[in-house]
Amino acid sequence: MNYDYPLYRPPSEAYSLILQVTIGCSHNACTFCTMYKQKRFRQKDWPEISELINTASQEYPRTKRIFLADGNALALPTETLVKTLKLLYENFPSLERVSIYGGPKDILSKTSAELETLYQEGLGLVYLGIESGSEKILKLVNKGVSPLEMIEAGQKVKKSGLQLSATIISGLGGKELWEEHALETARVASEINPHYLASLTLLLEEGAPLLRKIKEGRFIFLTPWETLRELYLLMQHVNLDKCIYRANHVSNYFSLAGVLNQERNLILQKLEYYLSRADIKALPVDYNRML
Ligand code: SF4
Repeated sequence: MNYDYPLYRPPSEAYSLILQVTIGCSHNACTFCTMYKQKRFRQKDWPEISELINTASQEYPRTKRIFLADGNALALPTETLVKTLKLLYENFPSLERVSIYGGPKDILSKTSAELETLYQEGLGLVYLGIESGSEKILKLVNKGVSPLEMIEAGQKVKKSGLQLSATIISGLGGKELWEEHALETARVASEINPHYLASLTLLLEEGAPLLRKIKEGRFIFLTPWETLRELYLLMQHVNLDKCIYRANHVSNYFSLAGVLNQERNLILQKLEYYLSRADIKALPVDYNRML
């Protein structure tokens, strides 16, 4: 496959065939994110998409899972997405699931009927970045929506029949807003009650506007121990029903998993153990440890 790099996909799409039906991110303005900064957002037109699908189906005819990229591919017109789904299921006889990134603004720009149509045409799962439930933090990181709009977007996806996988980012409030971040994110995630919830931990690459704020002393990054304390507070307050929770992304200091709220106590116990360790308390701030 010919990709327009860099290419991103959620961890759970590791074995999926990735098809870039859009390039870049339709929002591309979050201050912590550098994923698509060097790309200008572009929606591929139908001739390009159909050619992409035809080529991919010749190369990988037994594909079972497909992930539509780049960021916020849900921004494509519903008509194009419907044609895309139809052609995918025609060309890949073993196809079981199609998933997609959906930004909150792009979800809200679709009607409930449009989302239901996408579900009926075989779209299975939408990935939504909640990031934080705090109004202040969403504004500070320029997410482009309020917590209320985020809740509306998440609930709208779920009501249409689609599965929803949401992500939140530990540490996004920094030292000043960590408690608000934990409590408000727990509240917003609970109101949405996604099928899947994943925690990432804030990491910043060169070029991220938030990194500039750190260098200017206007944002204080949490230490690993403080990040775990924040997650502990969030876990105490989240109220979910049969939500599959994962914190297994490479950005996380430790891996956590369980069904919420059913296995909340196990997760809290694990966090208590980490929080009690002096070696973890001594770990320094490391905002770009993956570089
Ligand atoms: S976090 Fe998501 S919505 Fe924000 S700029 Fe990055 S890819 Fe786009």
